[in-house]
Amino acid sequence: METVAGVGPKVAERLERLGIRSVRDLAEHIPRAYLDWEQVASFADLAAGEEATVRCTLERIRVRPTRRRNLKIVEGVVVDAAGQRETAVWFNQAYLAKLPAGTELLLHGTRELGGGFKVARTEVRGTGLHTVGLVPEYRASEDLPSYRLRTFVDAVLPRIRFLSDPLPARVRQEERLPLRADALVAAHRPLDRREAEAARERLAFEELLALQVGFQARRRELEEHARAPALPDESELIARYREALPFTLTEEQETAVAEIGSDLGYTKPMQRLLQGDVGSGKTVVALYALLRAVEGGHQGALMAPTETLAEQHFLTVEEICNELGVRCELLTSSVPAAQRRAVRDRLASGETDLAVGTHALIQDEVEFRRLAVAVVDEQHRFGVEQRRALGRTTPHVLHMTATPIPRSLAQTVFGDLDVTEIAKPPANRKPVVTRWVGHERSSTAYTRLRTHLRDGRQAYVVCPLVSESEAIEARAAEQEAERLRDGELEGFRIGVLHGKLKTAERREVMDAFKRRELDVLVATTVIEVGVDVPNATIMIVQEADRFGLAQLHQLRGRVGRGAEQSYCLLVSRPREELTDEAVRRLEALVATSDGFELAEVDLELRGEGQLLGVRQSGLSDLKFARLVRDRDLIAKARRWAERLVDEDPAVLGPLGREAERVEDHRGFA
Ligand code: ADP
Ligand code: MG
Repeated sequence: METVAGVGPKVAERLERLGIRSVRDLAEHIPRAYLDWEQVASFADLAAGEEATVRCTLERIRVRPTRRRNLKIVEGVVVDAAGQRETAVWFNQAYLAKLPAGTELLLHGTRELGGGFKVARTEVRGTGLHTVGLVPEYRASEDLPSYRLRTFVDAVLPRIRFLSDPLPARVRQEERLPLRADALVAAHRPLDRREAEAARERLAFEELLALQVGFQARRRELEEHARAPALPDESELIARYREALPFTLTEEQETAVAEIGSDLGYTKPMQRLLQGDVGSGKTVVALYALLRAVEGGHQGALMAPTETLAEQHFLTVEEICNELGVRCELLTSSVPAAQRRAVRDRLASGETDLAVGTHALIQDEVEFRRLAVAVVDEQHRFGVEQRRALGRTTPHVLHMTATPIPRSLAQTVFGDLDVTEIAKPPANRKPVVTRWVGHERSSTAYTRLRTHLRDGRQAYVVCPLVSESEAIEARAAEQEAERLRDGELEGFRIGVLHGKLKTAERREVMDAFKRRELDVLVATTVIEVGVDVPNATIMIVQEADRFGLAQLHQLRGRVGRGAEQSYCLLVSRPREELTDEAVRRLEALVATSDGFELAEVDLELRGEGQLLGVRQSGLSDLKFARLVRDRDLIAKARRWAERLVDEDPAVLGPLGREAERVEDHRGFA
């Protein structure tokens, strides 16, 4: 990155935090929105709460002192073209205070209830080339504002021609699409919104095509070459499994089980996606598939994207396996090498029935004697290499994901998978009551939490998100636990969970929490996935405004897993310090716990939905495509992919590499 003018080591690091590591990344960091110098409102026309872009002149500006060290409020007096004077307020953009009086500004923001204009985006005339037409606004960070990204992009635009264009010429011709380089330039510097959208669609199409070509090639390969063991009908082990469960399966789970069960009876390898929101009860269904393998005299593997999640799954699986007399083992990189070798041997000899581990480990190291079912949690990459890695017979594969996209859309997107959906959680479930608590009232949140603890329930406290590093975040969590031990939670048993713990330690903490030897788990976002303790009925998220919507939804999914009414208390910094987006996020979480509804809000707020492509879901790295908006494009890409793979498998040349690149960047947080 440092070959770009103005980028030194420090800036390179900040760019990296935005996911920009190369000239190519920068070129592909297309604007998330555009401001328009021509289409502007007057302050006089705005109702309270209304959002608009206003062109104005700065009269004076200053940093308003606050008591909080990490908060800088900038206040300016501005006059719009109609002569209307207004107070503009910015948060954490202290650099603006240096602007001289008379500077022309384009402000996008919201008219506040009590007067004043809260600015979300700012364009300063004269600082860029963009004094006419559309001004690109980049996804930026506090220490790397959008206008700086703009100058870096300007510096690399001339080099964009040298980036490869993976789209086959005939596709480009038939669809009358511009060259990739032209589309990138148009996305960064469009003349109008139509041009901008057309450019994005061109880039999205290519991205979706690469993805679909990968999917289609995989499907083709499996259909032509792969055979899986056809498993016998359900019998005694499954009957005992059903009896051992402390509940009966819901109708939705029964349907899922029936669909999967039917696939397993054929030699055509199952390639099925099991989707359902957090807590909908996918794991029980996955276990059914694994136990079918064991029952038929074969083996099963459950693969998770992270060690924490693998361990968590193992705790669940082990418990029920012990009861059923099924031999299962954990395989993660933190299992000591000698022991790991022993586990591998037992899998190779067929002595062990089920393996639970991380994808990487199971794929790279293990040779199963007779693997029949693989369950792959939150990771789609698996299928690509499965044949190579797992030998001549292919297992039936069940992919699990919490990505809340509608089933019909999923079927188009995941061109190579059949889709089963658990649309409703178990009926005993009460939706988690979510409250947004202002910072000043955080003590009432802890009072509430203590009430739960005294009733014998357990609780989570999620620490503020620290972006600098995992080590710093870990230390912050330790300190917070200390503080709580001497403060709000004195007398209760508190454990700490963060990413810097060794696996054994992490496991110990989780075990202890599960066994109710701990009352409270103070944690970083490592609890976001997989932790399953139904007795935990309340969660406090500190500085919840710092988290993304998807993350908060996942975190909240850790409570409300039993029949008890559960609570999620979102403690935020003072409301007036929050960006509009943060306010909307928190309001949305209070309003609904439906993953798909939240996905739509996310989509609207950010122009892209992280929820629609949750990190691990396999779609996280779509830079240009928007799943809902681009439905038609997805279908088109899929048709092309089928044609291309049919006619010429060698199309996998450049597009295939592109597909791999997309795949490589996906998964693993
Ligand atoms: P997911 O994997 O979809 O996030 P889980 O399978 O972990 O969800 O299930 C969440 C919780 O609901 C677990 O504690 C599980 O034991 C419980 N559960 C699953 N199925 C049922 C059911 N049919 N009735 C009652 N509780 C269930
Ligand atoms: Mg789960």
